[in-house]
Amino acid sequence: AANSLNIGGIRISPYACQRRTTLKNYNQKLTDAFEILVENYEFNENKEFCLAFGRAASMLKCLPFTVVQVNDTEGLPWMGEQVKEITEDILEEGESSKVKAVLNDENYRSIKLFTSVFGVGLKTSDKWYKMGLRTLEEVKCNKNLTLTRMQKAGFLYYDDLISSVSKAEADAATQIVQDTVWKILPDAVVTLTGGFRRGKQAGHDVDFLITVPGSRQEEELLHTVIDIWKTQELLLYYDLIESTFENTKLPSRKVDALDHFQKCFAILKVHKERVNEGSAVQSKVFAEEETKDWKAIRVDLVVTPFQHYAFALLGWTGSRQFERDLRRYATHEKKMMLDNHALYDKTKKIFLSAANEEEIFSHLGLDYLEPWERNA
Ligand code: ATP
Ligand code: MN
Ligand code: MN
Repeated sequence: AANSLNIGGIRISPYACQRRTTLKNYNQKLTDAFEILVENYEFNENKEFCLAFGRAASMLKCLPFTVVQVNDTEGLPWMGEQVKEITEDILEEGESSKVKAVLNDENYRSIKLFTSVFGVGLKTSDKWYKMGLRTLEEVKCNKNLTLTRMQKAGFLYYDDLISSVSKAEADAATQIVQDTVWKILPDAVVTLTGGFRRGKQAGHDVDFLITVPGSRQEEELLHTVIDIWKTQELLLYYDLIESTFENTKLPSRKVDALDHFQKCFAILKVHKERVNEGSAVQSKVFAEEETKDWKAIRVDLVVTPFQHYAFALLGWTGSRQFERDLRRYATHEKKMMLDNHALYDKTKKIFLSAANEEEIFSHLGLDYLEPWERNA
């Protein structure tokens, strides 16, 4: 409470893990604008401004009202001078010249385009930009470039991967994952995580967490799943990463660090007949033409030992901003270290175990937030 402020009777914490943020966003015009700036600062590796606008956007997402004048944000955490300026422009003129400039910036547009390809990160995009490349056609035609296996898949399935995954498609992917996993280990727990667990109706991929209660049978599971999908010709691409996890390791401070669980980044071939969109999307008229009857969908599979499941679930449910603030809160308010694997109490010098997410919130002295309240 010491860190909280009172605005019109609403207590608002500077930590997203102490705010209930649903998908109902009354300030999307502002948060969309801020997120464009965040993206641009990310491209330019300006960490400070990236954080500043990210936190401001997250703050506005939890407000139960639309900000109509700058005064409405008075006393809110994270509303610095820069943020206020942009807010004022948008509220008074309907748009921000700074955001418009970013959207028209050649560097921003190129990096945004290049990073939209699966397997292409900032470093590669920067390189291509500095080589004078501006379009995906130019990249594809350039004979001097060697693309990674991941990038080749990214270009090959570009159109499918750029179109967002619907909830119905995520459900179809869930069916495929569960069918296969349960054929191998009927006791395995398969949980949809990421944005879909937070209630989103669309996403850029489908995230799954898999664990097996009371056993160490999970180690071979992913290998067997991949073998089965290969024979079924459902795997368009995959990269299996073995576990590098050690039980004694202290949780990592770095929020964006990858975790150490065994995982598979895949592109799954999902047949349209498996997708129940509620209405007959596929018209018979087109059936005779040579239309593709499947969609390439990005799927992340993470396998965790059972005793780490709750931490992995909390970590993989997101949002990223929520995760950042949860870890920042643990470190600065509780002298604890939290990551996707464990929670460590630095004062007592012990690991705190948890069977579910509620227990982790409770260790941290936080009120429980449902997954759909973590859309910070
Ligand atoms: P989208 O709808 O765009 O997929 P999302 O919230 O599901 O949104 P993801 O990038 O799929 O975003 O990530 C889901 C969560 O998993 C995030 O909160 C992130 O912190 C975590 N995460 C993503 N990738 C990794 C990784 N390689 N290692 C550890 N955690 C990750
Ligand atoms: Mn996701
Ligand atoms: Mn993902």
